[in-house]
Amino acid sequence: MDAHSGPGPAPATPPRDLLDQLPDVVYVAEVEPRFRIEYVSDGITELLGWTPSEFYADPGLVRRGLDPRDADQLAQFLSSPAGVPFQVTLRWRTSRGRLLFLQHRVRSRWRADGVLLAYGVLRDVTATKAVEKHLVDTERLYGLLSEHASDVVYQADAAGIVRYVSPSVRQTLGWAPADLIGRRAGDLLAPQQDLDAIDEQRRRLYEGVGDVGDIEGVAEAEMLVLTSSGSPRWMAARGRAVRGDDGQPNGIVVGLRDVHDQVVSRRALAASEQLFRTSMMQNPNGLVLFRRDGSVIAANPAFCTLLQADEATMLAARVSDLAAEEDLAEAHRTFVQVSTGEVESEVGATRMVRADGVVIWTRWGLSLIRDADGEPDYLVGQYQDLTPEHEARERLAFLSEHDGLTGLHNREWILHALSMRLRVARAATSTLGVLHVDLDRFRLVNDSLGTSAGDDLLRVVAERIRGAVPADAIIARTSGDEFIVVLAPSEAAGMDLEAMDEVAAGIQRAIGQEVRLGARRVIPSASVGIAESQPGSTAEGLLRAAALAHHQSKSDGRSRRRVFDAPLAAEAARRLTMEEELRDAIERQEFLAYFQPVVRLSDETVVGFEALVRWNHPHRGIVTPDAFLPVAEQTGLVVPLGEQVLDQVCAALAREPGLPGRVGVNISAMQLGDPGVVSTIVGHLAKHGVDPRRLAVEVTETTVVRQLDLAQAALAELRGLGIGVHMDDFGTGYSSISLLRDLPVTGIKLDRRFVTELTEHDSSANALATGLAGLASGLGLESIAEGIETDEQARLVLAQGWTFGQGYLFGRPAPVEHWIA
Ligand code: C2E
Ligand code: MG
Ligand code: MG
Repeated sequence: MDAHSGPGPAPATPPRDLLDQLPDVVYVAEVEPRFRIEYVSDGITELLGWTPSEFYADPGLVRRGLDPRDADQLAQFLSSPAGVPFQVTLRWRTSRGRLLFLQHRVRSRWRADGVLLAYGVLRDVTATKAVEKHLVDTERLYGLLSEHASDVVYQADAAGIVRYVSPSVRQTLGWAPADLIGRRAGDLLAPQQDLDAIDEQRRRLYEGVGDVGDIEGVAEAEMLVLTSSGSPRWMAARGRAVRGDDGQPNGIVVGLRDVHDQVVSRRALAASEQLFRTSMMQNPNGLVLFRRDGSVIAANPAFCTLLQADEATMLAARVSDLAAEEDLAEAHRTFVQVSTGEVESEVGATRMVRADGVVIWTRWGLSLIRDADGEPDYLVGQYQDLTPEHEARERLAFLSEHDGLTGLHNREWILHALSMRLRVARAATSTLGVLHVDLDRFRLVNDSLGTSAGDDLLRVVAERIRGAVPADAIIARTSGDEFIVVLAPSEAAGMDLEAMDEVAAGIQRAIGQEVRLGARRVIPSASVGIAESQPGSTAEGLLRAAALAHHQSKSDGRSRRRVFDAPLAAEAARRLTMEEELRDAIERQEFLAYFQPVVRLSDETVVGFEALVRWNHPHRGIVTPDAFLPVAEQTGLVVPLGEQVLDQVCAALAREPGLPGRVGVNISAMQLGDPGVVSTIVGHLAKHGVDPRRLAVEVTETTVVRQLDLAQAALAELRGLGIGVHMDDFGTGYSSISLLRDLPVTGIKLDRRFVTELTEHDSSANALATGLAGLASGLGLESIAEGIETDEQARLVLAQGWTFGQGYLFGRPAPVEHWIA
């Protein structure tokens, strides 16, 4: 090939000043006869750290800087045929030891004097090389590179008129150099761009107008440059003022590199980032970006508000800090599933703890974001506060929810379900039944074996009830040991009472099997109240009727059944009236304490009294306790009633110091169970200034047994104060004799029924009465026989060992005045 030939006419050689402004380094090297650098542009210093002069002075610098691995390539490069463009990438070390990939585009040419010169352009492609490592297809990369490897250089004079432009402008921007020479450089800048974004100095420089002389050094910017077709391209511009021989600035030199695709994709990325950021920041839902290790990359304001925490706190949080304790395991499991890509996304609802400790309900969605290679990269969580919605739903759920202990329904639910069924029954003109099932003596199990045994028993009972009722019956546990069964109306005729009673009996049979509670065996039993719907029945009314029937069955004895019928309804109505009347009576203080004397049987002297309540009814006159005490006890009214009696007794004792002995006051279970019972009694004594030794309390066995611990403590306290404690109606209860030993009792009162049954000759009543008298004297207790109506009875009890007596024979209950001499 002709050494002087080249492709086309050689362009006008640009001045060195101009070459020095090129973004790439250009050089001229003498290859033969000996290797040396004839010229290298200023840019080399920035690139490799050595100045051009150092290269000129030391030809070995080039070889020393070359990475030995690329020596072969260099040799090949140096021996490449003249005139053929050649491209090679060689590794070089900078003066600071950094390894760079330098791409050379070279063409060599023989000079007339027989010197082979290489004209080269150097570009740092280290960054590209790093990327290239990851690409299999290096060919493709080179293809891409060469497509864009086309720089443009132009020179403009002080007026901004283009005087020179490199031929590559055709390839890059579509212009022929001739199109541009003589035009204003500023015309090349596309009007679409925001020129104000490029600062004033640089713009002046690139446009080449105005005083550019005060601009020192090199200015760089990215700007949109017009192509010949009118569509703008992003170019990276690098410019510098040029000075004339007089040292005055007389123009500019600018190098342009096509960076269009990078800028476009970078801008698109920035735009999508901006979009993402905006939508994240403005989103009403809480959004969080998580790393796959669960740490937080970003959290939006809505999320911070949701948890009432600041952004810094959220950024320091991990996914595991966000879920409430109860939901932690579940939240963790989901996070792992999504972060490993096992599932792409998951939704759910979780409790979260706010910074102020309040637990809120959130609905969330968690999605996996993969990187360009499809590998799991990070996760996006979306959270929505469900608390208000949840509270409303929970209210609903509560209605349908089951009793946690037994898995049965609860009261709210059964009420709701019952009213639905009643509507169905009404429509079908059939009836339905409600069974109120209540365990007998459940409290005893709870008190003696502990509540967890009690819970076990309830679970067993629930299971047994479930097994004993028709499949369409619904069951609830409404409180403690109280169960409700609603029987479905049978479609044809409804369920008759007999069928309901049969179901109830079945339930009782099922419940009445032995249950093992730890080491103990218990045979539970239940009482059942049955109520059948009437045309106008309400759910509440029906439940109440069943409860009343149950109540009645319970007072009939254990393990009974009772149907709510007309007499019971009448009785219930009566009780209701009675309750109202009693309240009024307490209000109006209509209760009176009557006194009945207690005598020493040997000589019939009065040794004390028992106070017995009477209701001084405005219409009915004096009413005895049997007519109103049961209702007073059931309703708790016996407590204020008892206080009125106590107050009258204390007042009488204060008023009548001559009254002999103690006065016994009856205390019912309800009163004894009242934690304030002792202070009430002491209060009344104190109020009237009465010596506690003038008072005795009368309690029955059943009263005491029902609440043994409480009663024992209260009675011990009273006894400690000097108050007498009498065990009333003795011999009628079921409790053991040892109770007498354990309780702080001072006396026993033989029940009237024994006295009535006593006979002249031997009988079981005689034997018992004799035995009990012996027991009392053995224990050092006072013994009082009640209900003595005849001289014979008086003689008999005395003979059996009873010391004191009480009864109509000695005096009927009467106002205290009656007993004042
Ligand atoms: P109690 O404590 O066993 O009282 C004895 C009952 O037998 C009294 O009935 C009394 O009037 C009656 N009685 C006494 N001697 C004879 C007799 O010779 N023959 C007959 N047939 N009966 C006799 P009462 O006053 O109707 O009281 C009934 C029950 O009511 C009492 O039985 C007592 O448990 C309770 N009670 C009376 N007053 C009060 C009170 O103020 N508070 C409380 N919590 N209960 C009271
Ligand atoms: Mg009594
Ligand atoms: Mg009695």
